[in-house]
Amino acid sequence: MLHVNENYAKIKPTYLFAEIAHRVSAHMEANPEAKVIRLGIGDVTEPLCPAVVAAMHKAVDDEAGRANFHGYGPEQGYAFLREKIAKFDFQDRGMDIAADEILVSDGAKCDCGNIQELFGQDVRIAVGDPVYPVYVDTNVMAGRGDITLLPCTAENGFVPTPNDLPANGQPDIVYLCYPNNPTGAVATKMQLQAWVDWANDRKALILFDAAYEAFIRTPGIPHSIYECDGAKSCAIEFRSYSKTAGFTGVRCGYTVVPKGLCAYAADGTPVELRPMWTRRQTTKFNGASYITQRGAEAIYTPEGMAQTTATIDFYLGNAKLMREALQSLGYIVTGGSDSPYLWVDVKGDSWAFFDKLLKDANIVTTPGAGFGRAGEGFIRISAFNSRENVKEAIERLKGVL
Ligand code: PLP
Repeated sequence: MLHVNENYAKIKPTYLFAEIAHRVSAHMEANPEAKVIRLGIGDVTEPLCPAVVAAMHKAVDDEAGRANFHGYGPEQGYAFLREKIAKFDFQDRGMDIAADEILVSDGAKCDCGNIQELFGQDVRIAVGDPVYPVYVDTNVMAGRGDITLLPCTAENGFVPTPNDLPANGQPDIVYLCYPNNPTGAVATKMQLQAWVDWANDRKALILFDAAYEAFIRTPGIPHSIYECDGAKSCAIEFRSYSKTAGFTGVRCGYTVVPKGLCAYAADGTPVELRPMWTRRQTTKFNGASYITQRGAEAIYTPEGMAQTTATIDFYLGNAKLMREALQSLGYIVTGGSDSPYLWVDVKGDSWAFFDKLLKDANIVTTPGAGFGRAGEGFIRISAFNSRENVKEAIERLKGVL
């Protein structure tokens, strides 16, 4: 008999966005004239910047001629991109990360989801609550059930600490994501250093998701876990060009696995993770396309940096307008200054608030409860939209709240 992987029955159905889509389409059917503004989904709205577009056009021309045609590339990514990443994202910012510690991929979701394949079945996991669902679901699919939820609340500033871990049954792996999706919270260097020290003490591992790093504007807030002392011996970092440069549809990101970073065999022998991740990727992945990687490389040119910074500043401008408007209406708002997400305390049921905004203002948000139990009482608002829509949404909110 053909048996299924029954772990799939243990993951929650993709209830959140399906349920949102269902409620929005019911609302639109009932109100066909309504001009709905979507502030729910975390997809970018601005196009690729000119420097990236020009580089990709040129790469298409390369592919069109025999002289510069590229077929299969190196699974780990082309050296031209890995070297730029090492220099601009790390070395120029004082971090000792080399090009061969960087593995280019088609985005952070795959890497965050696939990395768990390197670890034993019995590893214990900790994640924040609320959380980006990929970390939990991929472990559950693989049959792991020992998952500690660390509540991210107003009391802890939405940044849990190692002191929040249970005294017994401490995790082997903790997923951290800052700037955070969904709360928009950022972690200070001291807060991240506490996690790094904890992980080094316990021979545990931090999986650090820095997908929203480019939104950090407050000086002193770490852009990378490797800004902390000792992080190279206890942390893997995921980066994405999706929100940095509008690559949600193009697909490119990378993962940093430092040399010497180890997990342990049953007899205690250290096993290096970088060769394992390389083996995994070279076996199951055939690399991001040449055209994509040339586009990503262009982000690191002076024009590319200026243009992508301008786009992120534009989204942050949206976030600022929305944050100030909600605060003036008496709401407590987290995020929206170093993050495209605002996490709004709605002082009540998050689905009821979602329904109210949809019905009374034709505005779609994301109910916080969909990201975990501690998300109840909040909604997430995304700044990925046109200025016109954000201003219009603010006027509508002022009318109904
Ligand atoms: N990590 C977090 C926290 C995200 O919010 C997202 C996308 O929304 C991703 C990773 C996925 O990024 P990518 O588009 O590179 O797969």
